[in-house]
Amino acid sequence: MAQDQSTRFLLQIKDENVTDFRVDDTSKDALRIYANLSYNLDVCPNCDGHDIVKNGFKTVSIRIPNISEHAALLILRKQRFRCKSCGQTQIAQTTLVEKQHQISVNTLHAMIGALSEDRTMTSIASQFNVSTNTVCRQLERLGEQTRPAYNGLPTSLCIDEFRSTGKQMSFIATNAKNHDIITILPGRRNQDMKDFFLTHYSLKNREKVTRVVMDFNAQYQSVIELIFPNAKIVADNFHLVQMALRSLNQTRVQLIKQFNKKSRQYRVFKYHWRLFLKSYEDLEKDKTQWFPHLKDRLTQEQVVWEGLDLSEEFQNTYFSAHGLVESIRNRNYKAFIETLGLVENVSPQLEETIKTFIRKKTFIQNMMSCALSNGPIEGINRRIKQIKRTGYGYKNWTHFIYRIQVEFKIRVKKRNPIRK
Ligand SMILES: [Zn+2]
Repeated sequence: MAQDQSTRFLLQIKDENVTDFRVDDTSKDALRIYANLSYNLDVCPNCDGHDIVKNGFKTVSIRIPNISEHAALLILRKQRFRCKSCGQTQIAQTTLVEKQHQISVNTLHAMIGALSEDRTMTSIASQFNVSTNTVCRQLERLGEQTRPAYNGLPTSLCIDEFRSTGKQMSFIATNAKNHDIITILPGRRNQDMKDFFLTHYSLKNREKVTRVVMDFNAQYQSVIELIFPNAKIVADNFHLVQMALRSLNQTRVQLIKQFNKKSRQYRVFKYHWRLFLKSYEDLEKDKTQWFPHLKDRLTQEQVVWEGLDLSEEFQNTYFSAHGLVESIRNRNYKAFIETLGLVENVSPQLEETIKTFIRKKTFIQNMMSCALSNGPIEGINRRIKQIKRTGYGYKNWTHFIYRIQVEFKIRVKKRNPIRK
């Protein structure tokens, strides 16, 4: 029937055995669509007999995706069959809904789409007119399917930490080249890492890893050497830049204390700190602008020099820090070593950072000889934070991780769960 076709099309029901659609919108809670499911069964699945008769119907109610914001139910009369040879009864099967399920495959698919968006479980549940538990079950199913395959490690890894559930810090490892998440562990202790990598990967696998990018906050050096015997540790260049600029900024904060809050010197440091963190090359040197806090027209370079002229130590710190930053950004090891050699009479804050740089010189050298960084992992951490915020802080670690996996669509295997 033509009308059947258009209804089937509207409801996105592909099964041609579903016919005789009738819509009833008299009830308030949901739109009810009645239909029949029937076909001819030639062979008995139980005894291979051919003498099969139709034997009444079984009516089931199936949740389908909302129609124009209305909850919708498909009341399906399923044909029942009886085999005359063995006496077994069968119920007609459809691709519309999985065996023993009351939620249509279309709804489940739409729910998968919703789960990969930045939305709460409650909002998904209300859209599809199901309970939050159903959404959770769907997430668990999907989580199992999107579990990363432990089938080998890439040659380069990025590792980092992030704040996960509550106050807990968690560990994350990604492929440094394609940025796939390799694992997220609830803890970040060395023991957690050892347990995970030694359990899931053979020595042969782990020997393939030749580079591990990490920042200096993490104390993973010894455990990395143990887990990945062939890996060179690569310092994260963003973190190095951050360390140098932070010490420069801390020096400024110390210096500002010497000046009266009403003085011009104080205001130069207080309101124009951003200019001091900018590379000297990038400062505007020709065009003047109005600086309201200084009540003066100056170039950016002039403002910075007003600060640098106030302390020789600050001036040295400024040029050393920026020299280091530049060599790190350009991955120029020769320039980096040269700058280190020229460092003299700098602030204790930068001194401290430089000591760390010298202690971890090899990791910095490793960084300069490749193009890797933890930049992409920072992006991933930001998205994870967003997932956490939307979920109002997951208390259930597994659900949290599953949601991350689903939102990042880690190796979603397209399994067809429908038996025909
Ligand atoms: Zn039979």
